[in-house]
Amino acid sequence: MKILIVEDEHKTGDYLSQGLSEAGFVADLVRDGIEGRHAALNGDYDLVVLDVMLPGLDGWQVLRDIRSAGKDVPVLFLTARDRVEDRVRGLEQGADDYLVKPFAFSELLARMRTLLRRGKPRESTSLRIADLELDLLRRRVTRSGRRIDLTAKEFALLELLLRRQGEILPRSLIASQVWDMNFDSDTNVVEVAIRRLRAKIDDDFEPKLVRTVRGMGYVLEAPELP
Ligand code: CA
Repeated sequence: MKILIVEDEHKTGDYLSQGLSEAGFVADLVRDGIEGRHAALNGDYDLVVLDVMLPGLDGWQVLRDIRSAGKDVPVLFLTARDRVEDRVRGLEQGADDYLVKPFAFSELLARMRTLLRRGKPRESTSLRIADLELDLLRRRVTRSGRRIDLTAKEFALLELLLRRQGEILPRSLIASQVWDMNFDSDTNVVEVAIRRLRAKIDDDFEPKLVRTVRGMGYVLEAPELP
């Protein structure tokens, strides 16, 4: 577990980073808001311990920037002032918990462990294979960086193929998953949709990703390199 500590007070910072290392965490310590923001945005941290009063940028601004960049890393902020407004403000701005200084180290550890347990691995917002990427949030598809426009059904079809890439999906399964209907006999609609999808994502690119498995269905896979 990697922890970022943003704390300008030398004694507190050293104490935290040493304590967390001894508790088995990988702890990085930075001592001002600008470095803190940079590290939080670019590092792969499981949790940020963020002091509020910092040189450069204060903790509020660092927190706002972390959240507006879409980072959902848990943030525990440290406030020297036992003021209700501070705590409310921190939580409103997207902090997950706070501690009022001075605090017992055991209390910090307990709070951190709670946050880390809560830190459910969020579902990834994009699916990819080779150079094809499907962005679930923005509902965009690109291949080799080129934007590809899909209809809603084509998007749903590609999403299904991506989620189950490498598996042979029968036409009947695709029909029921994408069209939400049972096409007992007429799976022509699937063939047509696959053909249109291929024209958009495969025709102008290499390698081809959608493969027909005769008599069985379709599979999305990236051919292994020779
Ligand atoms: Ca401080």
